[in-house]
Formats: sequence, structure tokens, C-alpha cells
Amino acid sequence: MRYVSTRGEVAELHFDDVLLAGLAPDGGLYLPAAWPALPPLDELRGRPYAEVATAVMWPFVEGTIGRDDFEWIVEESYATFDTDEVCPVVPLGATASAAPLWLLELFRGPTLAFKDVALQLVGRLFDHVLAERGSRVCILGATSGDTGSAAIDACADRACVDVFVLFPDGRVSEVQRRQMTTVDAANVHAVAVEGTFDDCQDLVKAAFGDVGFRDEVHLSAVNSINWARVMAQIVYYVTSHLAVAPDGGPVSFVVPTGNFGNILAGWAAKRMGLPVERLVVASNRNDVLTRFFTTGTMELQEVLPTTSPSMDIQVSSNLERLLFETLDRDGATVAELMGRFRADGSVSVSTDVLDSLRDEFDCGRIDDETAAEVIRRVHARDGMLIDPHTAVGVAVAESSEGDPSVPVVALATAHPAKFPDAVEAATGIRPPLPDHLADLFDRPERIGHAPAELRAVQDLMRAVLRAR
Ligand SMILES: *Cc1c(COP(=O)(O)O)cnc(C)c1O
Repeated sequence: MRYVSTRGEVAELHFDDVLLAGLAPDGGLYLPAAWPALPPLDELRGRPYAEVATAVMWPFVEGTIGRDDFEWIVEESYATFDTDEVCPVVPLGATASAAPLWLLELFRGPTLAFKDVALQLVGRLFDHVLAERGSRVCILGATSGDTGSAAIDACADRACVDVFVLFPDGRVSEVQRRQMTTVDAANVHAVAVEGTFDDCQDLVKAAFGDVGFRDEVHLSAVNSINWARVMAQIVYYVTSHLAVAPDGGPVSFVVPTGNFGNILAGWAAKRMGLPVERLVVASNRNDVLTRFFTTGTMELQEVLPTTSPSMDIQVSSNLERLLFETLDRDGATVAELMGRFRADGSVSVSTDVLDSLRDEFDCGRIDDETAAEVIRRVHARDGMLIDPHTAVGVAVAESSEGDPSVPVVALATAHPAKFPDAVEAATGIRPPLPDHLADLFDRPERIGHAPAELRAVQDLMRAVLRAR
């Protein structure tokens, strides 16, 4: 498989180069040159998650990684989850139109959020490709919580990777900080920055912008625009479909959305032949996407803090991939739209484009009070605790009015214990950490500290790398 950029200006690449590159040099995002077909669903039914995963992803990596290597990498990635099913589905009542409603649990990985599904694989793929090339990289990222711990866990003890994660000192929850600072591996480095999350992001951008430094330490990234992350997320749309529609009929999916990476994977699964009825974007009060899918205009706004912080975003980068496809892969027009968005803070698509997006996508917006109400109600009715991100999706799913014969799957993107304060406020119950993290508060922490200055962060990174 070869890959093209959504801005159409660069040569096609193979999977291994796309994996290591992340962003394309023309500022675009990589997509496969053609969509492969899924294997027949009946051939996948009843097989373990890792086998389905290998079968679904193989066409994307074929030609750059050997089949045996890929099989064991996938196997090992999903052995880190706390259940053999990896991403189980559980029944959750019915929607407003009496369609069966299911919850897809994506939080059974090591750091309790759905980012593990992709990053456990991506960390191992990085290591494999780098080992074959005899090179190493230094992964640098900024986090407001979830991504940092998932990236650290995925890269811990990988031979060819060092990982530095910058987080705002005092501004992440104690669970989130400890998940980053207590990992016992010499190649992971959590750095508390005296500043905000935005300061951390600016430092990362500045470090990548310093070409001399970038080449000196071989900087790389595993952020949510990396194609391999989207690829890994396609798999659970397939496995959950197999579970809730044994007859192979259509299924709808409701996805708590931030950067649009998760739901884009659902769209890709549909492109590959999965019978998908509706894809529903669920937003919190940061509703840039629901406004876009309603009006065709995307507009920058101030980010409002909510109880579902991993969806508090302003720009959904992965939307560019959907636009590229909807515009018949016209990279020049995508580049023009993105340029206008950057310059004006607002951009509109034509009625034709909006109509074709709305043929496949619905959207809904939920405020914190409604999310809390859903957490309370689901607990009272089913005895189940759900996290505030999941609650946004469940609220939108419950109110959906689709065909009652089409099952609806709501994606559960985080474990309730990852956001204990919001869950406790809604239910009075503080969700306990799962066994593998039960001693999190007793483990020793290892933290680097830096002021929000590029030179200081670079000096810290150089010193750490020299000592290794
Ligand atoms: C990252 C994240 C999201 C948003 O996913 P996107 O792929 O960015 O749309 C939703 N919920 C949780 C818990 C997350 O960590």
C-alpha cells in the first residue's frame, strides 16, 4: 500500500515512512492511495481480537513488515489489555426509538483510555521499523492528561525510542500525573513544565521548529494525526459489529469526539465495506464539530473547560482527511480551505459538500449537567459507572431516533476511575482503580522539571540523553 497526502503536494510513501513521518511535508495528513476491502465478515466471526486485527490491518502494512512479525506485534500489543476480548461490548438498554443500545469498552488497556488501543501497537511498530533500520528516535509530545500516559506506557522499554512528555505542572489530575511519573523504564521522561498546556504545546512546536535540534536528537511524534493510530482504531468497529449484528446487517456508532481520529476510523471501516448506517459525532460544549456538521461552517472559538477534558478542543485535525475524501481527493482545494481557516479562523464548505457529509454523519451536543445526569441514571438503572466522555456519547445515543432494527453502539472512551471526581459528583461513588493500578499512589515518582523556555527543555533533554 502507498500513501498520499491530503494536500496533494508530496511523493507517495510506504507504510513505514508514513509511520515515522506523522505529518506530511506539505502540511497534509497521509491516507492510503486506495481503500482495501475488509475480509468477508463471516471469515472473521468468532476469531480472537488479535487475529481480526491482523486480517483487517494487513493490507495497510503489507510490503513493509513481514507477516510473521506483524502477527506477533499485534498479538503482544493486545495482550496488555485486561480482558481476552480486548474491546468487549456490553448491553445498555435501548435508544429513544427502541433500537438496541450497546457500550463498546475501549478502556481496558494499561492507561484506561481508548488511546491505548492505537498506541500500544504504534509504540511497537516504531520500535520494529527503527530496529530494522538500525536507528533510534526521540519522541516528544505535550499532554493535558490522557495521551501522555498512553504514549509513555506504549514506549516504555522499547529499545529504539526515548520518549519525553511535557505536562503543565499542577494542572493534571494526580492519577494522570502518577500514570506518567511512576513508569519504571529508563527511556521514559515525564517533564513538569512551569506553565499551561498551551505553553507545553508551544514548546513542542518550537522544538520541532529548531531544525538543528530536531536532527541532533532525531525528534519524532506519535500524535493523533499519525495514520497508524487511525488504522488501529478501525479494528474495533469491525469486532463490535461482529458482536452486535450476527446477521451482518447495518449498525450505527456514536462517538465522543475531539480531534476526530476515533470517528474517522469508523468512517474508514465503512469505506472498507463494513455495513454502517450512521456515524454520530457526540460533542460537549466545545461544539465546533456539531456546528460544522449542521451549518457547513467551521469557526474557531475559545475552548471552554468541561468535565470531559479530552474533548475540549478547538481544531479537529483529522477532519482534513474526511474533507479530502469528500472533495474527491482534490488536494489543492483542501490546501486552500485549510489556508483560509488558518488566516480567517473560519471556513465554509459548499451545500453539496455539506449534504454529502450529512448523508453519513449525524451530530449531537451535550452539556456537563446532562452528562452528569446520564452518569447518575446509568448507575441507578444498570449499576454501571461510566466516565464523563462516555456519558456524552451515551446521552446522544439514547436520544437517537433511527430505525429500531439497527443496533446502536456507543463508544466508551475512558474508564470511570480516570475521572473519579466527576463520577463521584454524579453518583456519590468514587470508582476504584483496577487491580493493575491499585498501588499507583504508593509507587515512587520520577519527574523532570523545567521552566516554560525552549532552551531549558532542550538542555534537560540533552542531559538526559547523554546520561543514557
Ligand atoms: C482522546 C479522547 C477522546 C477524543 O477522541 P478523538 O479521536 O480525538 O476524537 C474522547 N474521549 C477520551 C477519553 C479521549 O481520551
